[in-house]
Amino acid sequence: MTRPINIAVLGATGSIGRQTLDVIDRNPARFKLFGLTEGVRSTNREAPYFVHGQAGEPEFDTKVEAMVTDPRCDLVVVAIPGARALSPTMSALRAGKEVALATKEVLVMAGALVMKLAGEKGIRPVDSEHSAIWQCLWGEERANVRRLIVTASGGPFWARPELDLDQVTVEQALNHPRWSMGPKVTVDSATLMNKGLEIIEAHHLFGLPLDAISVCIHPQSVVHSLVEFVDGSLKAQLGRPDMRLPIAVALAYPDRLPGAVPPTSISELSGLEFHDLDETRFPSVRLAREAAAKGGGHPAVLNAANEEAVNAFLAGEIPFSGIVSAVERALGAFPGCGGTLEEILQADSWARSYVRQQDGIRPVG
Ligand code: MG
Repeated sequence: MTRPINIAVLGATGSIGRQTLDVIDRNPARFKLFGLTEGVRSTNREAPYFVHGQAGEPEFDTKVEAMVTDPRCDLVVVAIPGARALSPTMSALRAGKEVALATKEVLVMAGALVMKLAGEKGIRPVDSEHSAIWQCLWGEERANVRRLIVTASGGPFWARPELDLDQVTVEQALNHPRWSMGPKVTVDSATLMNKGLEIIEAHHLFGLPLDAISVCIHPQSVVHSLVEFVDGSLKAQLGRPDMRLPIAVALAYPDRLPGAVPPTSISELSGLEFHDLDETRFPSVRLAREAAAKGGGHPAVLNAANEEAVNAFLAGEIPFSGIVSAVERALGAFPGCGGTLEEILQADSWARSYVRQQDGIRPVG
């Protein structure tokens, strides 16, 4: 392409959004900011499309629809947190746009529908683990892939078995040892629900069965994930924990951006550790697997119940350990439904009201 790629950034004021603007700004010959959405904070940017507000508000949704379906728009970066990202992602895909997806909830809720809309070209993952797997799969035959191994830092509590998870504060949960991210995904990293969601995300992105996707704890967050092939070979993608790299990979594909992040020196690679996940202390991955295996509205219930419970924890309404138990109760009570968009959205609302009405949501102390 001779002209710069026109990029729309949905969720430009969040952590991924701001880093995406940074990648765009540093590569003006390749990328042009075509449009953006911002919430409470301001980006002080100028672009042909500028949408202020929150997804779900009618005026916001109408303007975003116009932006992502505009014939001049080439690529849409989806970085609106949570379930609200689903509708604009589907609009962009229906309009035939390339989509770089940071919001894993979109695939967790409606992976089958979304991947069908994406068709042959697929979706460009921005999530660091999925970017790693994507890069490992470039040039490989899918039939030669045996297993995906998604790495997890373990969050702030994995290495502290003495810690009572009922007593963990919001501040402790938001203090991630490796990655700087938004509050929702940081809490999800602490509960390990982030890995549960990422297994479902990988299942849809790469079309592998759930039992061919495993999780391992890798506290250094240097190996971003691995692929095992039928001949026994393992391929991994490594680098510093810096989201500007997966963002650059997604924006520049199939090219690579020189100097996207500082190179990793070999000396930084010493002392890499890998551990099995303790699923008794952190049951989120098991819950996610079970929800995905049941299919229909179950993954949407997992996701929505988790979003509500994380918000309740951040608001001081429930203890940290109450997040995963709220999700488990919601999944246990959900009567089940099919997998149309309407049914998925109904499952999402059902889970939100269920969690909010549950006695599990109680004031702390
Ligand atoms: Mg991730």
